[in-house]
Amino acid sequence: MSDIIHLLPDSVANQIAAGEVIQRPASVLKELVENAIDAGATFIQIVIKDAGRTLLQVSDNGKGMSETDARMAFERHATSKIREASDLFALRTMGFRGEALASIAAVAQVEMRTRRHDDELGVAIEIAGTRVFKQETVQCERGTTFYVKNLFFNVPARRRFLKSDNVEKSHILTEFYRIVLVNPDIEFSFFDGDEEMYHLQASNLKIRIDAVFGNSKKKIQQQLLNIETSNGLVSIIGFIGKPEYAQKSAQQYFFVNGRYMRHPYFHKAVTLVYNNLIQSSENPSYFIYFEVDPQSIDINIHPTKTEIKFENEQAIWSILSATVKEALGKFNVTPSIDFDREGAPEMPMNLNAENVKPPQTNFNPDYNPFNTSYKRPSFDWEKLYGGFEKEAKISPSLADYPTENSPQSVAPSTIEHLLIESEPEQQKMLLGDEFHSTNFQFKSRFIITGIKSGMLIIDQHRAHVRILFESYLKDIEQHTAHSQQLIFPEEMELNEHDILHFQMIEDALKAVGFNFSHDTKNQIQINGIPALLNASGIVDLLREMIESVQNTGSDTAQSLYEIIALSLAKSTAIKTGQQLTSQEMSDVIDRLFACQNNNFTPDGKSIHTTISQSELLSKFG
Ligand code: ADP
Ligand code: MG
Repeated sequence: MSDIIHLLPDSVANQIAAGEVIQRPASVLKELVENAIDAGATFIQIVIKDAGRTLLQVSDNGKGMSETDARMAFERHATSKIREASDLFALRTMGFRGEALASIAAVAQVEMRTRRHDDELGVAIEIAGTRVFKQETVQCERGTTFYVKNLFFNVPARRRFLKSDNVEKSHILTEFYRIVLVNPDIEFSFFDGDEEMYHLQASNLKIRIDAVFGNSKKKIQQQLLNIETSNGLVSIIGFIGKPEYAQKSAQQYFFVNGRYMRHPYFHKAVTLVYNNLIQSSENPSYFIYFEVDPQSIDINIHPTKTEIKFENEQAIWSILSATVKEALGKFNVTPSIDFDREGAPEMPMNLNAENVKPPQTNFNPDYNPFNTSYKRPSFDWEKLYGGFEKEAKISPSLADYPTENSPQSVAPSTIEHLLIESEPEQQKMLLGDEFHSTNFQFKSRFIITGIKSGMLIIDQHRAHVRILFESYLKDIEQHTAHSQQLIFPEEMELNEHDILHFQMIEDALKAVGFNFSHDTKNQIQINGIPALLNASGIVDLLREMIESVQNTGSDTAQSLYEIIALSLAKSTAIKTGQQLTSQEMSDVIDRLFACQNNNFTPDGKSIHTTISQSELLSKFG
């Protein structure tokens, strides 16, 4: 018997290798553009025809190749980027495997023209199915141009596997975005047939993001918040979307050391921070750029895989999470309501625990949530809200607005009636002693108040949900809740499934004032409930919570607490339609702006909006 093992010819070996690297036109584009970037190009032009099936052309003004290198470039494992294994751990280039060009040449008809900057003439090579057809000296531009024609001309199975033009084009654009978003200093032009779809000038990250995703009406820049942090381990810069711009299909990009990556674990770090700020069906956009020591990551997993392993994954997770939190926190306590903050005191990020005394209302069925011993934060709110009246005197259309020395020239609200007619002592009671700005209730739903830059309109129910949510969370975390015993304990049946989820939240429920005893495994008795809560409907409320736990699949303590706090807040908050006294309105305003987040309810609904003074004035001509 003769021996049967033999080496495969290069053409076959390359074709097999190509199966790994080149799966569709988009993979060709990625490899060619990455090569252009590695060659130091400052301008890269891309042309595709028929979604890259018939032509994919990439031209760059990079350093070009010598005649020998031009030929070598198509050999498998031919690369100028690493020399030895240890180089793999200090990669600063996009490519390093030396297999892209060999693979492309194995499955397409390729023409390449290249000229180094100091050479008079360049070289042109034509190669198809690994066979070189032509190599000649030519006159050409500095840099390199690849024409990749008739992809998979010799692999019909692959060709058939390609999807519709639209799908292939969208794969191409996906690769294009991943590259241009991390190379803002390179100018890009992208032609689909004869039409230039993108011309991206060299700029900075923010402008690049805007150029790719914004349009003339909608500047994406205004929707983004900066993030930035740096320490020995990692430096992170980038942008995260404001919660109100969250959408179903958001732009979510991570990059590390100039390379796009997917990272489900870091993704979780970002999205968790948004948990209570946006609706669960929506997603935040982010563009986040990591720089780490190349030795601390492993990108050498698979040629087409974009997952990257980090050595210090957990530490970076925490840093990322804190950075995103900080950016959102800053944004939330500052000016989407554009208070005129000149000279205004800093708003505290956290309200001191002493300042929020839990209501002392045990056993009081007529409990009024506003008669609390709540103390205002110790800074000067008056400055924040007071300026409007002063400015109003200057502006003619608002000068008639009733103040203490102008007679009532316009019909005052009932509150003003009371104010004008009442004794100073009563006035104090009506307005609170620090809060002199007049508040109005509109349609039993909104509280309207003046701020320096205009008019602030607050949804009373949503504001109170936010206030109570944060206060319940604190109760849970600090075990400061007050409980009321039920004279007639309620029974609740649970099935096997419910029991599991109930057990997950039982401790947190106790922390917030519930008190249970277990009759049998499937039956619990509710003996005590949080002070503010109404006993009727308590079983339904608990069922709702158990369902939320099931639906969201939450299992971290924090997310379980939030479910409970939100349910309680919703069921105890003042309702739409409820009349409020002036004191109550002041209380809502004070407490709302002492919250960590005052823009959105925990389930993502807007709490307030403003009408600017200039907007208002413009309506009066
Ligand atoms: P890799 O990028 O992994 O090194 P490739 O097969 O993509 O492997 O490219 C092989 C080599 O060809 C590169 O190392 C580089 O020296 C050269 N090369 C490829 N494209 C260009 C280009 N646009 N400009 C200059 N040199 C290039
Ligand atoms: Mg390459």
